[in-house]
Amino acid sequence: MAGILVIAEANEGALAPISGELLGAARKLAGEGAGSVTAFIAGSEALGKELIALGADAAIVDTNPALQGALAEVYLPAVQAALQQSGADIVLMGQTALGRDLGPMLAFALGTAVSMETVDLKYAGGKLIATRACYGGNARAEVSFKNAPAIATVKAKSFDALAPDASRSGSVSTIDVAGEARVKVLGVQKAESTGIRLEDAPVVVSGGRGLGDPSGFKMLEELAALLKGATGASRAACDLGWYPPSQQVGLTGKVVSPNLYIAVAISGASQHMAGMAGSKNIVAINKDPDANMVKAAKYAIIDDYKKVVPALIEEIKKL
Ligand code: FAD
Repeated sequence: MAGILVIAEANEGALAPISGELLGAARKLAGEGAGSVTAFIAGSEALGKELIALGADAAIVDTNPALQGALAEVYLPAVQAALQQSGADIVLMGQTALGRDLGPMLAFALGTAVSMETVDLKYAGGKLIATRACYGGNARAEVSFKNAPAIATVKAKSFDALAPDASRSGSVSTIDVAGEARVKVLGVQKAESTGIRLEDAPVVVSGGRGLGDPSGFKMLEELAALLKGATGASRAACDLGWYPPSQQVGLTGKVVSPNLYIAVAISGASQHMAGMAGSKNIVAINKDPDANMVKAAKYAIIDDYKKVVPALIEEIKKL
């Protein structure tokens, strides 16, 4: 029996966005012949029903409270039980704090392999094929798996979630399985965040090394606020200490796919593009007409950002 097992996640009782994205990916694979979709979640049966509405054919809910700590070693036997129950030969999980540990742990336990930081998936010739960056982000590799189950940890925003459909039906079963924790969580400190999350923003205004100094970001924040968006940065700008690393876009940062991505003084290195190439509309503001970002953009403004951005702010304020 084949099929796909999605390891869904919830934060403070609400489904994490990655859960819907994984189900979006799983439905695509199901459409390509990979079999039915089972979702696994730690928590309540209500979450199981939400997963059905988001595209799962069946949900397995683990009600053991020990899983709430999201430790991979506690999850491992639970996921193995869900795998046996579902008969799946593909396992998808998020490239999250949990998935980063659980993926390799599960692959080791089952004597199979895991594709980490996966950005695309397809099912062809009876096999899962996962796409991931290689050579420091300068190329993409397509990998297939010799043994089942094929396991992939998927980067956030690589797939779109489907709109919830409450009329979808599917079975929700419960299990009560948990492994033993080898570490004790003493406390959880939430990351400080103000305004809209970069990954969820419909508009992202990002700045790069070409800003010249950190003060340039004040201008970008003003533009982003007017457009009800978030501010991002290239790694070069973050490495220089101009902007927080939590806002870095790219291969080693966040993946975003907003409706509008405004790249200000960013050259468009492949590692940066890996984090934003899925944006629906790219606007480049750059002095160099030959910059890679200018070539990738739908619209480009070739000039000094110090002239362009204030002019844009002024015009938008008039609207
Ligand atoms: P630059 O490449 O220096 O570009 C600056 C741009 O600003 C130029 O195009 C220039 O024409 C323009 N400019 C200059 N002055 C002005 C002005 N006044 N007005 C308008 N335009 C101006 N990078 C990331 O961003 N994210 C990642 O996650 C990431 N991961 C990496 C992982 C690895 C393993 C490696 C090796 C590299 C990674 N990088 C990443 C780094 C990446 O290769 C580039 O070095 C980086 O993206 C360059 O940043 P930048 O575009 O801001 O700077």
